[in-house]
Amino acid sequence: VAKKSPGNTIVSYKEEFGIEIEKTMELQNELIRAIQNREIAVHLQPKVKIGTGEVEGFEALARWHSKLLGVVSPTVFIEVAESLGQIKELDSLIIEQVLQWLRKRKERNQRLYQVAVNISPSHFYTPTFVEDLIGLTNLYGIDPKYLKLEITESICLVDIERANSILQSLQKFGFENSVDDFGVGFSSLSYLMNLPISEIKIARNFVNKVHDDKGRIIVQSIIQMAKNMGLHTVAEGIETREQLQLIHKMECPTAQGFYFYKPMPIENVDQLIK
Ligand code: C2E
Ligand code: MG
Ligand code: MG
Ligand code: MG
Repeated sequence: VAKKSPGNTIVSYKEEFGIEIEKTMELQNELIRAIQNREIAVHLQPKVKIGTGEVEGFEALARWHSKLLGVVSPTVFIEVAESLGQIKELDSLIIEQVLQWLRKRKERNQRLYQVAVNISPSHFYTPTFVEDLIGLTNLYGIDPKYLKLEITESICLVDIERANSILQSLQKFGFENSVDDFGVGFSSLSYLMNLPISEIKIARNFVNKVHDDKGRIIVQSIIQMAKNMGLHTVAEGIETREQLQLIHKMECPTAQGFYFYKPMPIENVDQLIK
């Protein structure tokens, strides 16, 4: 408003800056409140076996619909939670809702599926990370094999020795480890291959270039290499039939993406897999 008169420019910038700070603080406060009141919901997106179309498991994704701010994207609030030191609390909310869902199915003697949860770097390197996870799976009476931990390759690079030992103990206790957004840090590939992981998820930025020559070569080599190393492979972000056919030809076993299913509220999933 104040921009109209040039003399007021400084004031207006100050005001705009003030508004920005206010907005950020509102978002931060509202997020802290939402985490405390357990208002972060979980959506599950199926991972699909390409040969049969069968659902082989799910990825849990955090969702936040704030009464005050409306729907906030996970890419925004995950980063804010990280900056506030609240990411462990947030991740745990998601993990607990997943375990609750699994326990309900177990009580009804329904088939259990493996669910992958996303773990942020600062959470991963918390001294009690593995211990706390075991505590939660014990509390809900769920075998750790039903939880998969999705970590990005950048997490491993923060401290490859410590990452290695954390992943080792996770594996020892029966959890599965998956490397998310694989390919983004291509240089680190040889390191990653020596870690105790069972799955890699090929990043969407590669999968959606699979129709051109370079994209095809990269995705094909990742799939081939993973296969040779005995790793499971998931192609992320499959949106079209063409992409699906191409990665099927490359013998990628599993896909995840809007072409099959969008992430859906966890309470709707029982209906889907009935
Ligand atoms: P991600 O772990 O790589 O998750 C996949 C993202 O791709 C999700 O975005 C999902 O909705 C989206 N997606 C799936 N299929 C398709 C597709 O076919 N096309 C397109 N365009 N997108 C697709 P979302 O839910 O917005 O999450 C973004 C990121 O936020 C996640 O990336 C993950 O890194 C992070 N995140 C989400 N939930 C959590 C959580 O509970 N804890 C932590 N630490 N991070 C989380
Ligand atoms: Mg993920
Ligand atoms: Mg991903
Ligand atoms: Mg990601």
